[in-house]
Amino acid sequence: MSLACGIDIGGTKIAGGVVAEDGTVLEELRVESPATDVEAIEDAVTGLVKELGSRHDISAVGVGAAGYIDRDRAKIYFAPNIAWRDVSLRDELEERVDLPFVIENDANAAAWGEFRFGVGQDVDDLLLLTIGTGVGGGLVLDRSLYRGGFGVGAEIGHLRVVPDGLPCGCGNRGCLEQYASGSALVREARAAVRQDPARGAGLLDLAGGDPERIDGPLVTRAAQAGDELARACLAGLGRWIGEGIASLAAVLDPAVVVIGGGVSEAGDLLLDPAREAFDAQLPGRGYRPSLEIRRAVLGNRAGMVGAADLARR
Ligand SMILES: [Zn+2]
Repeated sequence: MSLACGIDIGGTKIAGGVVAEDGTVLEELRVESPATDVEAIEDAVTGLVKELGSRHDISAVGVGAAGYIDRDRAKIYFAPNIAWRDVSLRDELEERVDLPFVIENDANAAAWGEFRFGVGQDVDDLLLLTIGTGVGGGLVLDRSLYRGGFGVGAEIGHLRVVPDGLPCGCGNRGCLEQYASGSALVREARAAVRQDPARGAGLLDLAGGDPERIDGPLVTRAAQAGDELARACLAGLGRWIGEGIASLAAVLDPAVVVIGGGVSEAGDLLLDPAREAFDAQLPGRGYRPSLEIRRAVLGNRAGMVGAADLARR
């Protein structure tokens, strides 16, 4: 049995796992992410690989990271939250550990994980959206991970949905990420509570009276407990997601769209409004087969498992 190691570099944690050919995670370790320190991140990644490699016979390592990765899966052109600019991360890691590495975009790795071992095993074409701090995208077309001409395809978060809309970290305005991410959810919830404290009493109470302490998990918890404003905020987010999916379906026609990331914990409170908005916006609706919007099932292991499987190929 061939074992591969999958590493997922997140904003707060770096996760490493030993993954078997059937997607089973045999051992998993998590360490705090040094967030912005490039050298410390590389130390943490090599530390995880060496420790896991001391107990398992690992043949390859896949590293998932948020950023623009080149087609050869070696170089990071740019990462939004880490100071990687034109870094040959694969070469640097291979110098430190005697194993073959591949570098993957984290959402691509998660899409591949859900396609191979998760909620998309029954289809050939799948689109994954990760709804977290930002909006990530991954695309499997005809059973292959789609990378694009330069390796940086499927950046769905930067689809422009509002002309002259809110500014985005990518340099443009009006990107889907500014309306359909966990950050947008928090921004809208805080604004709604300030505007109408009576309607926001439930959220304010959970936040100890301080709107600035409202975060995504808090909104989800309140919505699950029946809070009307929290539900309305999630529904607003879901509508943006559904409309975005309808536009993407016009181009890509995936059989399934998988919603992952932290905000997907809200389940149907997010997905039902997304489905409704999708149904109302799909071009040619009523006269064509319609895709399914499903919630991701691999949770925060999707990227790790997907990266490991891609490294083995
Ligand atoms: Zn953008």
